[in-house]
Amino acid sequence: MANFAAPSCAMLLLNTYALLLLVGLAICYLLPSALRTYLMRKYTALVDVKHVGTPRQDGKKLPGTAVVCGGSIAGLYAARICSDHFERVVIIEPEPSTFSKDSRAQPNDVLRDVDVGDERKYKTVRHTRTRVMQYTAGHAYQVLSLLFFRKLFSRFDTRAKQWGMHIAAADTNMRVAGVAIRPSYEDYYGSFPETLVASRRTLEPFIRSLVAEASPSIEFVAGTVSDFTLDYGGAVRSVRVRLNAGGTQDIDCALVADCTGVAQVGLKLLPRSIIRFPKNLREDYNPDVYATALEFPLTPAVKERIRALPIDDGAGRPYDTERTRWFITHMPDPAVGVRVMSMSYGTGDSLLVICGAWGLHPLPVNLPMLVDFTRGIVGTELPEWYFKVLEVLKDVETDGVASEFRCTSCSCIHYERASAILPRNFVALGDASMRVNPRFGEGVTKSAVGAITLDATLRSLPPSNASFGPRFFSSLHARTGSIWLSSKTADYARETTVPVEGETRDVGRFMRWYRTRLVRAAAKNPAVASALWHIGQFLAPAPLVFSPSILLAVLRNTLCSSG
Ligand SMILES: Cc1cc2nc3c(=O)[nH]c(=O)nc-3n(C[C@H](O)[C@H](O)[C@H](O)COP(=O)(O)OP(=O)(O)OC[C@H]3O[C@@H](n4cnc5c(N)ncnc54)[C@H](O)[C@@H]3O)c2cc1C
Repeated sequence: MANFAAPSCAMLLLNTYALLLLVGLAICYLLPSALRTYLMRKYTALVDVKHVGTPRQDGKKLPGTAVVCGGSIAGLYAARICSDHFERVVIIEPEPSTFSKDSRAQPNDVLRDVDVGDERKYKTVRHTRTRVMQYTAGHAYQVLSLLFFRKLFSRFDTRAKQWGMHIAAADTNMRVAGVAIRPSYEDYYGSFPETLVASRRTLEPFIRSLVAEASPSIEFVAGTVSDFTLDYGGAVRSVRVRLNAGGTQDIDCALVADCTGVAQVGLKLLPRSIIRFPKNLREDYNPDVYATALEFPLTPAVKERIRALPIDDGAGRPYDTERTRWFITHMPDPAVGVRVMSMSYGTGDSLLVICGAWGLHPLPVNLPMLVDFTRGIVGTELPEWYFKVLEVLKDVETDGVASEFRCTSCSCIHYERASAILPRNFVALGDASMRVNPRFGEGVTKSAVGAITLDATLRSLPPSNASFGPRFFSSLHARTGSIWLSSKTADYARETTVPVEGETRDVGRFMRWYRTRLVRAAAKNPAVASALWHIGQFLAPAPLVFSPSILLAVLRNTLCSSG
């Protein structure tokens, strides 16, 4: 009996250990992977972008009309998405130039002279987008934008190239406070993630033409959205338009998307019909940021001379400007310096330098001013080859064009806090829900995140469901809230920033401290640099900066440097 019982007891023990080991292994392997999937799904739009541009699961479109207010970047994205889901889509836009054939063609720059006295005489590009003042500003886009475009429009890359745009490795030779922020090319086995390099005034007509071609049934109404009518259930029943041609028109809607940019029409119109509408949904502060864009057309000879310069990646390795279409991006620690600068190739054969600064003006509008501006950068030294590029540009400086901008308002409307009383079929995306400091150039990709989130919400619920609006806004907030927080708290480092009413510039002190430590850790630890790059490209969840391995790297670096 004893002989018989002994092996069975040992077997039982062995089996139990084996089972525990299996469970342990499963937990060790599955839990982090499940957590990663959860964080990616919640805090990024990367999982949902895969479904964009595909038909609805049941093959049937939703009845009724999706009304898109505003026909700029976010409005075009929203309309294209809605055309996959609704029987009818209407864009309402007041600027008549956006309906013309020219608005879907490659821009043909017409210049005008600007003379503001002193040294500031320059040529600038004339444009008719009176409500989009940054139309001629240099724009950068992140990897997620290109993934989105490729899903939404067929043969996107080929056609972008036909328009003189470039598809390039998404490496802007970024130095934050002098520290290179990029993942290693080796991580991607030669297929480094790409992005689009194009001016805003090329991208917008290009997207306009692609949307018109992909969804020819989208209707356009020339007018200004002036009111919403709500039904007894609290949904928006119709949108009132003040027509450019005179008179008004009411358009019945199944969904209304506010894409009116800084006009943020939704926030103005909804409180008229919703008595209990909260007064404090909108945070607003003044970062007092100035920016200029300088573009120099390159002759073949000038291009050759620039190509011959020994351009490096900040770590002594050659940096391939043909592959990236970029030269350098300098971001200061705002607690130390105010000057931001990036140099890249522009659309076609041009070289573009963007300058920005907190509370500092005038910014450069010509080459000598640009040299002075960048010589005045503190906290880090720009490489000598950068100044050699400027030297070469002297040959084409008289052909340079400039544009000046000022941003005195950043705002975030916390619709997610009012989801219980908002119309269930109302959404807001692009600058209509959040406008951030343009220094990291996130606005266009942020609009894409809004459009992808709209697509995903429409795939899971119809807007007639009471949870539709709440789900959209809570998801959008999870994916973009960190952009607002990090941008605002960085701006609060500057004494020229006027904070949100009721806040002081002390808000976000820990965030600023931690960000500085993160960047310092990135100088020594490639995994930290890679995490920052992935978050910046909308490819990784923002909470990654608090993952155990990153926290440990920051702690180790902080202790070592203080020891
Ligand atoms: C200087 C500067 C530089 C920038 N650089 C970058 C960059 O490098 N990269 C980047 O991604 N982003 C950048 N941005 C931000 C980016 O330009 C915006 O985020 C983007 O344009 C937002 O698009 P949108 O469609 O939401 O709004 P907008 O482009 O502002 O368009 C809003 C539209 O709504 C229309 N409208 C207004 N009121 C009404 C109404 N009542 N009824 C109907 N229609 C209406 C307007 O006519 C307009 O067409 C920059 C911004 C600035 C200021």
